[in-house]
Amino acid sequence: MIEREQLELDVLFVGAGPANLAAALHLKNQIAEHNERVEKGLHHGRKIEDLEIGIIEKGAAVGAHILSGAVVDPIALRELMPDFLEQGCPMDTVVTDDAFWYLTDKGKIQSPVTPPPLRNHGKYIASLSRICEWLGEKCEEAGINIFPEFPGAEMIYDENERVIGVRTGDKGIGKNNIPKGNFEAGVDILAKVTVLGEGSRGSLTKQVTRRLNLLEDKEPQVFSLGVKELWEVPEGNFDEGRVIHTLGFPSDTKTYGGGWIYGMKNNIISIGYVTGLDYIDPMLDPHHEFQKFKTHPAVAEILEGGKMLRYGAKSINAGGYYTMPRLYADGVLLVGDAASFLNGQRIKGIHTAMKSGMLAAETIVGAFDHQDFTSKTLRHFEEKFNSSWIYDELYAVRNFHGSFQRGRWSALINTGLQYLTGGLAWGYMPKEHHIAGHERMNTLVEYENKNEADKQRYDHLKFDKELTFDKITDVFHAGVSHDEDQPSHLHILDTEICATRCAEEYANPCQRFCPAAVYEMEQNDKTGRREIKVNFSNCVHCKTCDIADPYQIINWVTPEGGGGPNYKGM
Ligand SMILES: Cc1cc2nc3c(=O)[nH]c(=O)nc-3n(C[C@H](O)[C@H](O)[C@H](O)COP(=O)(O)OP(=O)(O)OC[C@H]3O[C@@H](n4cnc5c(N)ncnc54)[C@H](O)[C@@H]3O)c2cc1C
Repeated sequence: MIEREQLELDVLFVGAGPANLAAALHLKNQIAEHNERVEKGLHHGRKIEDLEIGIIEKGAAVGAHILSGAVVDPIALRELMPDFLEQGCPMDTVVTDDAFWYLTDKGKIQSPVTPPPLRNHGKYIASLSRICEWLGEKCEEAGINIFPEFPGAEMIYDENERVIGVRTGDKGIGKNNIPKGNFEAGVDILAKVTVLGEGSRGSLTKQVTRRLNLLEDKEPQVFSLGVKELWEVPEGNFDEGRVIHTLGFPSDTKTYGGGWIYGMKNNIISIGYVTGLDYIDPMLDPHHEFQKFKTHPAVAEILEGGKMLRYGAKSINAGGYYTMPRLYADGVLLVGDAASFLNGQRIKGIHTAMKSGMLAAETIVGAFDHQDFTSKTLRHFEEKFNSSWIYDELYAVRNFHGSFQRGRWSALINTGLQYLTGGLAWGYMPKEHHIAGHERMNTLVEYENKNEADKQRYDHLKFDKELTFDKITDVFHAGVSHDEDQPSHLHILDTEICATRCAEEYANPCQRFCPAAVYEMEQNDKTGRREIKVNFSNCVHCKTCDIADPYQIINWVTPEGGGGPNYKGM
C-alpha cells in the first residue's frame, strides 16, 4: 500500500491552458470584488476568506504542451484584463490582411470576399504557448500556486460519487512497473471544487464524463487533428499580419480539412493543416495531408528558400454545441476544449475557452458564498453559459461540423444558409447531427466498394527534408522527451486485435493517424506475424490514437510529469 501525501486546497484547476489560467485569475479578481460589495453593504452574502487555489500542469512548464495556430480574438482577454497589452501580453502582431483560397490540384481560386467567420482583421497573431506562460506569471503574482510536472492521473470521489479532488501521477516507476530508487508517490490533492481544463480529449475528463454520465442525451464528441510547423522564410515571401485560410487540396470532398498560413514578425510563419478525425478512408494520414498541402504550388512558393523550425500536432474538439457534455457535477466543472467550447467554423477556441473559465470562476464565487459545492450551485455555470455571448456564438454554428459529415458541398450550402439567416436556418440535417469519427472510418473493403479508392493518395509525396518531412524528422522538431524507463502511457487493451482483426480490416490505421510515428507493426519471428510496437517516447500528447482507433482499445493516460513535447514559444 503506497502512502500518499494529501494536499488540501479550496479550488483545484487541472491543466494550465487559456481556460484555466483565465479562470484562476478571474476567480481572484471576483473574490476581491465580492468582498468589496459585502463590505459596502451592497451584497448580503458572506466575505470569502483568502482561498487556496492551485493549478496542476502535466508539462515541464506552463506553455510546454500548448499548441495552437494562433489567431486570437481578444474579446475574452479584454474582459479579463482590459489593459492586457499595457500589462505585457505577448501578442506577436495584428492581422492586417485576410484571404480565403479554394485550392484545386494545381491552382487556387481566391474568394473575392473573405467569408465572415474567417475575417480576422484587427485580431492578433500570437504564440498561445507564450500567452499562457505570461498568464501563468500573472496568476503567480496574484498568489495562485502553479505546479508544473504534476499530471492529474485519477479523479478522487467520495462515497456519494462527489468529486473531491485528483490524484497526481507517481514518479520513478520503471518500465517493468517496479518502483525505482527515485520513486515519488503521487499526491492526493483535495479540493471543494475541481475544474477540468485539460483541453481536447482530456484523460480525466474522459473518466469523469463516463462515470458520472455527463454525455447522456448528448451527441458523440467529434474531433479534428491540427498539424503545424513554424517556418522562417526569406524576406518578402509572406507579409507580417497576413492570414490565409484554405479549403480543397489535398482533402477529398468527403473529408473535412483545411489549411492556414499566418505571417508573424521577423519572417516567421505559422503553417498548418486540420483534418477531421471522422474521415472514412482508413488509408488516410493527417500528417501526410499536411505535407501534401505544402507541395501545392501556391503554398510551396511561400515556403521557397525557407527553413522549418518547429513541429507540433494536437487534436481539436470540433463538434461544438450539440456535443458539449453536462458542464458540472457535484464538486466539478468542465471548461474550455475539455467541454467542447471551440467554435469549429472559425477554428477558434481560445476566446471561448477563456470565457468559459471566467464563467466557471463566477460560479465558484457563488458556491463559496453559499458554502455549497454540489450540483445545486454549480449548475449555475450552465445557466451563465446559456446567457453569455459564447452560447450565441456556438449555437449559431451548431450544425457546422455535422454538415461536413455529409460532404463538402452540403457543408458549404448549409453554412451559407446559416450565415444568411443568422444561424436560424440550416439545410436538411438528420436527427443525429454528428457521428463519432471512429464509427465513420470504413474498413478497407467497405471503402473500396463505396468509393474509388485513392490508392495513389501519397504516391507522389517524397520527403525531401526541405519542403516536406517524414514523421520522425518532424517529431525531432517537437522537442519531445519522455523517460524511456517508465511504463508506456499508451495502453492497448487487446494487442491481439492489432495483429489479427485490425490488420485485416483496416491495415492498422494507428500507423497512419498518429502524427508522431508512435505505432509500428513489426515482424515477430517467433510468432511469424506482424505485431504492434508502441514507441511511446515519441508521443506529442495529441490524443489522436485515443480518439480515432476504430476498436476504441487505445487508452491514453498521463505519463510521468514533465514528459512530452516542448512547444514553448511555438
Ligand atoms: C493546431 C491548432 C490550431 C489552433 N488554432 C487556433 C486559432 O488560431 N485560434 C483559436 O482561437 N484557437 C485555435 N485553436 C484552438 C485553441 O488552441 C484551443 O481551443 C484552446 O487552446 C483550448 O484551451 P484549453 O485551456 O481548453 O486547453 P489547452 O490549450 O489544450 O490546454 C490544456 C492544458 O492542460 C494540460 N493538461 C491536460 N491534461 C492534464 C492532466 N491530466 N493533468 C495536468 N495537466 C493536464 C495540458 O498539458 C495543457 O497545458 C487551435 C488548436 C490547434 C490544436
